[in-house]
Amino acid sequence: MRSRFPPRLCGEQLQCKMHELSIAQSVVENAIDAAEKSGAKKIKSIELEIGLMMMVNPEQLRFAMEIVSKGTIADGAKLKIIKKKVKARCKNGHVSTIGGDFLHLMSSLSCTKCQSRDLEILEGRGIILKKIEAD
Ligand SMILES: [Zn+2]
Repeated sequence: MRSRFPPRLCGEQLQCKMHELSIAQSVVENAIDAAEKSGAKKIKSIELEIGLMMMVNPEQLRFAMEIVSKGTIADGAKLKIIKKKVKARCKNGHVSTIGGDFLHLMSSLSCTKCQSRDLEILEGRGIILKKIEAD
């Protein structure tokens, strides 16, 4: 059985300050909620899309997920993280798409055309629960 649903756990426009443990908590709660609503007994995998601006530490998030899912139907679920690139506009009007890594994003966060670091972030914040697989 496969469920698809797009609850937005943290808004694109909000500067979300959740650290890994609270992210894990709301991911697991939302996943369990959705799985139970569709009558599932066990969550096998959870797929998250995380904006690079969130700068989460994927290893810490995995670890936090293990802790908060212990004893729930999400216990042992595989976590897949999709990194969403940052889209930003510089003061000269160039729009850049900036990829990379959560932890090293700040050093690469500049306009790809003029290297300006004066950027307005258009995309790349927020966490979306993309997909869960459950039985
Ligand atoms: Zn520029």
